[in-house]
Amino acid sequence: MTKFDVDLFVIGAGSGGVRAARVAAGLGAKVMIAEQSRIGGTCVIRGCVPKKLLVYASRFPHAFEDAVGFGFSEAKPEFSWERLRDRVEAEVTRLSGLYRKGLQGAGVAIREERAEIRGPHEVRLASGQKISAGTILVATGGRPSRQGGVVGADLAIVSDDVFHLPNLPRRMIVVGAGYIALEFASVFAGLGTEVHLVHRGDAVLRGFDEDLRRIAAHTLAARGVKFHFARNFVKIELGRDGIRRVHLQNGETLDGEVVLIATGRVPNTNKLGLENAGLVLGEKGEVEVDAQSRSNVPSVYAIGDVTNRLQLTPVAIREGHAFAESVFGDRPWTVDHADVPSAVFITPEIGTVGLTQAQACERYQSVDVYVANFRPMLATLSERDEKVFMKLLVDGETDKVLGLHISGEGAGEMVQLAAIAIKMGATKADFDRTVALHPTAAEEIVTMRTPAARLRRDRAKS
Ligand code: NDP
Repeated sequence: MTKFDVDLFVIGAGSGGVRAARVAAGLGAKVMIAEQSRIGGTCVIRGCVPKKLLVYASRFPHAFEDAVGFGFSEAKPEFSWERLRDRVEAEVTRLSGLYRKGLQGAGVAIREERAEIRGPHEVRLASGQKISAGTILVATGGRPSRQGGVVGADLAIVSDDVFHLPNLPRRMIVVGAGYIALEFASVFAGLGTEVHLVHRGDAVLRGFDEDLRRIAAHTLAARGVKFHFARNFVKIELGRDGIRRVHLQNGETLDGEVVLIATGRVPNTNKLGLENAGLVLGEKGEVEVDAQSRSNVPSVYAIGDVTNRLQLTPVAIREGHAFAESVFGDRPWTVDHADVPSAVFITPEIGTVGLTQAQACERYQSVDVYVANFRPMLATLSERDEKVFMKLLVDGETDKVLGLHISGEGAGEMVQLAAIAIKMGATKADFDRTVALHPTAAEEIVTMRTPAARLRRDRAKS
């Protein structure tokens, strides 16, 4: 008999917390989970899922245009942001309900209120109830950083707010050039908003392969996004009729109905009482954990964005799964954070897995670069000026595929599947002996014969 009220108390019912709770309960643990907002967390409620639905919506206007090249008459169906927004919200509510059912079905007790840690084995709910727990899991995720230091920052919105906009803005200013900034710039440009993107640097998507960075900016520019590179915003003011005026450091101003700040996310550890349990936090406020997701306090674990490892839903889910099976099952395992595929859902999208060219050249003596750059079949009849770009990086010594980077329709889907082969350690010869599936864009991945460049360490460095 346990001396605690529950074996596991999970704080945060997002993707990672829910997975951990369900798996632990399935292994016989007595589990309670607390959520202060809506069950489902960032991904389901205000992230990946509603975002992807908006991405689909933003692609229809292009599809209507493309259809003309395929014999359809020109059509410009009317669009209602309000209808889209409400339908997305309904879908989010449905999914949140499914998450709740999943927890209930697994026998997890749900508390829809804020929970704070009072000690290594104690949690206190907002209602005042104290719960003792053998193990506490912090799965509180992250939140958009608001750049609160900037004057007028409260006049801007963050990604959470996008899904509740009262109407489709005619003009929008997006600050930042990461995943979120680019995805929403693409969504709103696709829906017909005039989008201005302000970025402190001179290239988008830091950390991505250089070619993809260049292509992503080109893609968005081709869709009408206006870039303001090497600009910092210093102030936001409220003008007439609710118009926001963004002041840039160089004296320029930009006006828009909506300003979206998308300059990164910070771990949700504020006022969680972590210090009560003696937890060590990192520079950004993240819970510092080891490979087993265990904090410096043996009874407290943390998974997902709150640990600031890889801020991706499937990674949080895996970390939650590994935690639950390791602590409550007899199959301890840890998450391998290498070769995690990801996509940036601009239009056309970007998919990437493995090393960038710069990383490959840093780590390997000899790197062969295979490139395909072609017009997708759809663009022939639609006459859209669009290209698919693929880059495969191969270790010139062992023939092992090190990375794959794609810009083009379906890039996310292609990279997800290729990631299996790459994770298995596939060589270029393995790709070569795979017969192409014709006619697809993906077939180019297995038909790239001659390297565009053979980079040897000396030359790579020069
Ligand atoms: P990112 O870290 O991707 O990008 C942040 C952007 O803001 C960068 O362009 C950065 O510039 C800029 N920035 C940071 N600080 C400042 C500042 N003080 N002033 C001006 N600009 C600044 O964060 P996001 O918010 O876009 O996304 C957060 C995370 O969420 C991502 O890292 C990703 O892991 C996850 N995510 C994943 C998605 C997917 O898988 N499709 C979709 C959405 C989010 P600089 O380059 O100069 O650092």
